[in-house]
Amino acid sequence: MTRELSLDDIKSRIRNIPDFPEPGIQFKDITTALKQPEIFSAVVDLLAASYTDKHISRVVCVESRGFILGGAIAAKLGAGFVPIRKPGKLPAETISATYKMEYGTNSIEIHKDAIKKDDILLLHDDLLATGGTVRAAVELLKSFNPRKIYICFFCELDFLKGRETLPDFHIRSLIHF
Ligand code: AMP
Repeated sequence: MTRELSLDDIKSRIRNIPDFPEPGIQFKDITTALKQPEIFSAVVDLLAASYTDKHISRVVCVESRGFILGGAIAAKLGAGFVPIRKPGKLPAETISATYKMEYGTNSIEIHKDAIKKDDILLLHDDLLATGGTVRAAVELLKSFNPRKIYICFFCELDFLKGRETLPDFHIRSLIHF
């Protein structure tokens, strides 16, 4: 990791797109940050660092932007990778949940055999807004009765107070807006 890189440096590379994908949304475009080699590796290192002693067995990531960092975090932690996908994408038997997000509604699915009861999970997505997506993902994961669920994001929109809707969980975000 490049030690001189501060969280403000990383934050300043995230591009804000007003009114995307609909009026009133300030879209945080992480591609401008992650295309920088030193930022991509620093973000993976910084997110993974909080969980090195947590015995994470699987990192569960939400399609599609959750996949960008999630796989790299899983490799760093020596954990497996489990995708949560949009309806109809996973080939075997699934369970699903429907939810509201900052803009629109959505459904997500996970393979029925993706998680074991003794798993310690790290759930990852790129950004926490209202928390609708992560609540639906947690609902899916809880049905497997895993030992523990940790949650991490690259970015969090603090003013939407998404984390307050998940008071029982250990949630870490690297960058706060
Ligand atoms: P929410 O369910 O409201 O917490 O929304 C989180 C999901 O929607 C994440 O998967 C994000 O990728 C996406 N998202 C919501 N709001 C934004 C935003 N302002 N900028 C970028 N992505 C967003």
